[in-house]
Amino acid sequence: MDIKIINAKLGTIKKVKKKKKVINKDTKKYKTWRIKVDYKNNLKKWSKLVQERDGNKCCICGAIAKIQSHHILDKKYYKEYSLEINNGVSLCVLNHKWSKFAAHTNPTWFTLWLMKNRPEQYKWVVEHIDEPEVHLTHDQRIQILQDKNKVEIKTE
Ligand SMILES: [Zn+2]
Repeated sequence: MDIKIINAKLGTIKKVKKKKKVINKDTKKYKTWRIKVDYKNNLKKWSKLVQERDGNKCCICGAIAKIQSHHILDKKYYKEYSLEINNGVSLCVLNHKWSKFAAHTNPTWFTLWLMKNRPEQYKWVVEHIDEPEVHLTHDQRIQILQDKNKVEIKTE
Protein backbone atom coordinates (compact mmCIF):
# COMPACT_ATOMS: atom_id res chain seq x y z
CA MET A 1 0.00 0.00 0.00
CA ASP A 2 1.08 3.55 -0.76
CA ILE A 3 2.62 5.28 2.27
CA LYS A 4 0.39 8.31 1.72
CA ILE A 5 -2.67 6.19 1.98
CA ILE A 6 -1.37 4.49 5.12
CA ASN A 7 -0.68 7.86 6.72
CA ALA A 8 -4.09 9.08 5.75
CA LYS A 9 -5.69 5.99 7.19
CA LEU A 10 -3.79 6.32 10.44
CA GLY A 11 -4.74 9.95 10.56
CA THR A 12 -1.19 11.08 10.88
CA ILE A 13 -0.20 14.42 9.54
CA LYS A 14 2.88 14.23 7.50
CA LYS A 15 5.00 17.31 7.80
CA VAL A 16 5.85 18.76 4.47
CA LYS A 17 9.51 19.54 4.44
CA LYS A 18 9.96 23.06 3.20
CA LYS A 19 12.42 23.49 0.43
CA LYS A 20 15.26 25.69 1.61
CA LYS A 21 14.99 29.05 -0.07
CA VAL A 22 18.06 29.93 -2.08
CA ILE A 23 19.16 33.45 -1.24
CA ASN A 24 20.75 35.50 -3.93
CA LYS A 25 23.40 37.48 -2.09
CA ASP A 26 24.19 39.63 -5.08
CA THR A 27 21.01 41.65 -5.04
CA LYS A 28 20.93 45.23 -3.85
CA LYS A 29 18.06 44.35 -1.53
CA TYR A 30 20.07 41.61 0.17
CA LYS A 31 23.15 43.78 0.52
CA THR A 32 21.16 46.64 2.06
CA TRP A 33 19.50 44.22 4.47
CA ARG A 34 22.87 42.64 5.36
CA ILE A 35 24.46 46.01 6.13
CA LYS A 36 21.52 46.88 8.36
CA VAL A 37 21.66 43.58 10.25
CA ASP A 38 25.45 43.75 10.67
CA TYR A 39 25.22 47.30 11.99
CA LYS A 40 22.50 46.31 14.46
CA ASN A 41 24.64 43.40 15.70
CA ASN A 42 27.66 45.67 16.01
CA LEU A 43 25.61 48.12 18.07
CA LYS A 44 24.74 45.26 20.43
CA LYS A 45 28.44 44.37 20.73
CA TRP A 46 29.29 48.03 21.29
CA SER A 47 26.68 48.25 24.03
CA LYS A 48 28.07 45.17 25.75
CA LEU A 49 31.65 46.47 25.61
CA VAL A 50 30.63 49.86 27.04
CA GLN A 51 28.86 48.17 29.93
CA GLU A 52 31.76 45.83 30.59
CA ARG A 53 34.14 48.79 30.73
CA ASP A 54 31.80 50.47 33.23
CA GLY A 55 31.53 47.41 35.48
CA ASN A 56 27.96 46.70 34.32
CA LYS A 57 26.46 49.47 36.38
CA CYS A 58 25.04 52.94 35.94
CA CYS A 59 27.90 55.43 35.92
CA ILE A 60 25.76 58.03 37.66
CA CYS A 61 23.93 56.19 40.43
CA GLY A 62 25.57 52.76 40.50
CA ALA A 63 22.35 50.84 39.81
CA ILE A 64 22.89 47.39 38.32
CA ALA A 65 19.40 46.69 36.94
CA LYS A 66 18.26 47.63 33.44
CA ILE A 67 21.50 49.17 32.24
CA GLN A 68 21.61 50.75 28.81
CA SER A 69 24.45 52.22 26.80
CA HIS A 70 24.03 55.88 25.97
CA HIS A 71 25.60 57.48 22.91
CA ILE A 72 27.06 60.83 23.97
CA LEU A 73 27.33 62.04 20.37
CA ASP A 74 24.01 60.99 18.86
CA LYS A 75 24.30 57.94 16.63
CA LYS A 76 22.01 59.50 14.04
CA TYR A 77 24.23 62.51 13.49
CA TYR A 78 27.58 60.91 14.32
CA LYS A 79 27.25 57.49 12.77
CA GLU A 80 31.02 57.37 12.35
CA TYR A 81 31.36 57.31 16.16
CA SER A 82 28.36 55.13 16.90
CA LEU A 83 30.59 52.11 17.51
CA GLU A 84 33.30 54.00 19.37
CA ILE A 85 33.64 52.92 23.01
CA ASN A 86 34.64 56.43 24.07
CA ASN A 87 31.26 57.62 22.83
CA GLY A 88 29.32 55.42 25.24
CA VAL A 89 28.29 55.64 28.88
CA SER A 90 26.40 52.97 30.84
CA LEU A 91 23.27 54.37 32.41
CA CYS A 92 20.22 52.99 34.20
CA VAL A 93 16.86 53.73 32.58
CA LEU A 94 16.27 56.62 34.97
CA ASN A 95 19.53 58.34 34.19
CA HIS A 96 19.27 57.51 30.52
CA LYS A 97 15.79 58.69 29.54
CA TRP A 98 13.23 58.73 32.30
CA SER A 99 13.99 61.35 34.91
CA LYS A 100 14.91 64.96 35.39
CA PHE A 101 18.54 63.85 35.58
CA ALA A 102 18.72 61.83 32.41
CA ALA A 103 21.14 62.22 29.51
CA HIS A 104 18.24 62.62 27.08
CA THR A 105 15.94 64.86 29.11
CA ASN A 106 18.64 67.07 30.56
CA PRO A 107 21.64 67.09 28.21
CA THR A 108 23.07 70.26 29.76
CA TRP A 109 23.19 68.67 33.17
CA PHE A 110 24.57 65.46 31.67
CA THR A 111 27.37 67.30 29.89
CA LEU A 112 28.34 69.00 33.16
CA TRP A 113 28.26 65.62 34.88
CA LEU A 114 30.53 64.18 32.17
CA MET A 115 32.94 67.10 32.47
CA LYS A 116 33.22 66.64 36.20
CA ASN A 117 33.16 62.86 36.48
CA ARG A 118 34.65 61.61 33.24
CA PRO A 119 37.15 64.27 32.16
CA GLU A 120 38.96 61.92 29.75
CA GLN A 121 35.77 61.02 27.96
CA TYR A 122 34.62 64.61 27.96
CA LYS A 123 37.92 65.52 26.30
CA TRP A 124 37.32 62.88 23.64
CA VAL A 125 33.88 64.37 22.93
CA VAL A 126 35.28 67.89 22.64
CA GLU A 127 37.85 66.60 20.15
CA HIS A 128 35.25 64.83 18.01
CA ILE A 129 32.20 67.08 18.08
CA ASP A 130 31.93 69.26 15.01
CA GLU A 131 30.85 72.83 14.42
CA PRO A 132 27.65 73.82 12.62
CA GLU A 133 28.10 74.55 8.93
CA VAL A 134 27.62 78.29 9.32
CA HIS A 135 29.69 78.97 6.23
CA LEU A 136 26.62 77.79 4.30
CA THR A 137 23.41 79.78 4.10
CA HIS A 138 20.48 78.75 6.25
CA ASP A 139 18.57 77.69 3.14
CA GLN A 140 21.48 75.55 1.95
CA ARG A 141 21.62 73.80 5.33
CA ILE A 142 17.89 73.14 5.23
CA GLN A 143 18.26 71.75 1.71
CA ILE A 144 21.05 69.39 2.84
CA LEU A 145 18.93 68.15 5.73
CA GLN A 146 15.92 67.63 3.49
CA ASP A 147 17.95 65.70 0.93
CA LYS A 148 19.58 63.59 3.61
CA ASN A 149 16.37 62.71 5.42
CA LYS A 150 14.12 62.77 2.35
CA VAL A 151 11.62 64.99 4.14
CA GLU A 152 10.38 68.51 3.83
CA ILE A 153 11.30 70.78 6.70
CA LYS A 154 8.63 73.39 7.29
CA THR A 155 10.21 76.67 8.29
CA GLU A 156 7.06 78.73 8.78
ZN1 LIG B 1 21.40 55.43 37.31
